[in-house]
Amino acid sequence: MTECCILRVAVNAPLSQLFDYRPPPDASPDALRPGCRVSVPFGRRRECAMIVELGDSSELPATKLKFAHAALDDEPLLNDADLWLVRFVSDYYQHPIGEAVAAALPALLRQGKPLYPVVEHISLTNEGANAAAGELTTKAPRQAAFLHRLRERGGLTGAALDDAMPGWKRLRKNLLAKGWIRIAEMQDTAGDIACRTATPQHGPALNADQSAALQAISNGAGFTVSLLDGVTGSGKTEVYLRLIDDAIRQGRQVLVLVPEIGLTPQFVARLELRLGIAPLLMHSGLGDNVRLAAWRAARDGSAPLILGTRSAVFVPLRNPGLIIVDEEHDSSFKQQEGLRYSARDLAVARGKKLDMPVVLGSATPSLESLQRCSEGHYRRVVLPVRAGKAVPPLLRLVDLAAHPVTDGLSAPILAAMKRNLADGGQVLVFLNRRGFAPTLICQGCGAIAECGRCDARMTVHAGSNRLQCHHCGAVRALDPKCGECGGAVVPLGQGTERLEETLNAHFGDCRIVRIDSDSTRMKGSMDKALALATAGESQILVGTQMLSKGHHFPNLTLVVVINADQGLFSTDFRGTERLAQSLIQVAGRAGREQRQGEVIIQTAFAAHPFWAELLRGGYERVARAALEERELCAWPPFSRLALLRAAAAAKVDAHRFLDSARRIAVALHADEVRILGPVSAPMERRAGRYRAQLLFQSRDRQLLHQVLHSVRSKLERDPLSRRIRWSIDVDPIELF
Ligand SMILES: [Zn+2]
Ligand SMILES: [Zn+2]
Repeated sequence: MTECCILRVAVNAPLSQLFDYRPPPDASPDALRPGCRVSVPFGRRRECAMIVELGDSSELPATKLKFAHAALDDEPLLNDADLWLVRFVSDYYQHPIGEAVAAALPALLRQGKPLYPVVEHISLTNEGANAAAGELTTKAPRQAAFLHRLRERGGLTGAALDDAMPGWKRLRKNLLAKGWIRIAEMQDTAGDIACRTATPQHGPALNADQSAALQAISNGAGFTVSLLDGVTGSGKTEVYLRLIDDAIRQGRQVLVLVPEIGLTPQFVARLELRLGIAPLLMHSGLGDNVRLAAWRAARDGSAPLILGTRSAVFVPLRNPGLIIVDEEHDSSFKQQEGLRYSARDLAVARGKKLDMPVVLGSATPSLESLQRCSEGHYRRVVLPVRAGKAVPPLLRLVDLAAHPVTDGLSAPILAAMKRNLADGGQVLVFLNRRGFAPTLICQGCGAIAECGRCDARMTVHAGSNRLQCHHCGAVRALDPKCGECGGAVVPLGQGTERLEETLNAHFGDCRIVRIDSDSTRMKGSMDKALALATAGESQILVGTQMLSKGHHFPNLTLVVVINADQGLFSTDFRGTERLAQSLIQVAGRAGREQRQGEVIIQTAFAAHPFWAELLRGGYERVARAALEERELCAWPPFSRLALLRAAAAAKVDAHRFLDSARRIAVALHADEVRILGPVSAPMERRAGRYRAQLLFQSRDRQLLHQVLHSVRSKLERDPLSRRIRWSIDVDPIELF
């Protein structure tokens, strides 16, 4: 056999190893390089697999070694750096390599479709050319016109003909039979996506802080991580725009990652206007063909600017120059199912590998990133004041012990709203709970409507007259009578839907817009609601955290936070960090133009030390206190965590599986790794399965990964592992 005759491929299956195959007999060596796809026999199926390595021998006996069916690419789809990322992700997140490859490819490529679409190309034969020059015009004018068009253009694709000569397909059979045209299949490599649109517009001159920030970030070449820490309205985007412009001028590509709801038309339009480049958008809402075209344009370098959500971190870049992660603290950068990666952390890893700068931006940086700055790994670049004349908003509390609420609203809140509205201002009412009410209770027997499949209550949705479980999605009709005793049922507590109703009763002459995932389900409805809010046509905005990020409402003068107390007593060690982030983010919507904004927070626990820290020292103070506490308890970022989760139809199976994981880990005698559990998840039953978990904690990342690796490879051989659902979450952001 010739040299390098073994292909080591990754198959999209939940298996951690690579599989060996012999090359397909007639394939060219170019098509068998790492990064190329091959189709292989796998079990009884034919699978599309990716070559990750070449080898010259296999552990399998020659008789068991199968031939790959066919090579699928002429050239590698992923280059060495892309393949490095895939392997890194698989190792770091303890996840099957085939699924890591799958994350890096658009759906059509995973399915084995070609990189470029195959299209029909129609051209004239010699006979056809003669006929076109002959007397056809009078006898058959349609045929003549068709042949002339083909002769003029030297052949056309089917799609181009559909545009130019609708109905041409009716001529096709006849002309083929006469031998006048030929139809060939070819790859459509025509420029996919036009990115350059117009002349860029000049932006405002940078203020002193912005200039200093730009200089600090641009200082030095190669890999650096800068944390651009700037309050809302301090002009981070201006700094991004200069950095992007610089990189593109040098012929480099820029990848900008934003949270899931950060891809607003406002932001995209601003980039386009200022840079004269339409950013290439990559997000989960794209159709398969569009996504593949976008992926190609990033890979072949024709797209200078790529703007995407979490999964765009994997996109191949021909001339990588800069990665920006905006709102780096946002939890949507962490995938919470399947391959549980952090796009922010991978952006940093990629920047290091490709030796290019990475910029993380936030008004409320994650404690992880702040700690990296303190340790000297990242540089912290602060934008301290709001750009222009705007002043930071005034924060105050309403103590619910002194001011009782009616339908969720206290008197001081109502008074402040009236005052702001009378002055022509706009008010945002924030409640992070959608639906009408979180609970439905019977007045007769006290029974509470619960989900049949989860340890959770059903949420009342009055608009659709249904009960909905927000954990598993179960839905049932709202029965006005109790199923137990026939008594009358009443909704208890507040959701955004009910709050909207209450606000309507108080402020009937104002236009009220609700923004949450229920009200914006229809395509385009979010944009419409935001446009109303931005133009100031709606005086009151009510909504969930969907409202709190990235949007700019020029008339907004007051932000009201209805219920922040859940976050104060969270069982998760990240509770206060999250609470402070969401409050500061929503507060940042207030008073961004000439007038000072006001933020009022209702709380039943006004004496809680969290409030004193937040009101006196802002996010900075809360973050410092939280970091001290984490250091004392050795929580991240002062240690590393990994969570092994198991869920099974029988409770005993989930616990048995984790018990055996614990035994495997203990037998390794890795004393620097603490093992906590197994314990049942706080919401033990979800979607009909019992859930339990085992937590690994260590200050030594290497050691933790060694332990995880051993535990995982032994668990994969446990027969129970095929009957239950389990996963490893490295650097989890939610512990429960
Ligand atoms: Zn009842
Ligand atoms: Zn449920």
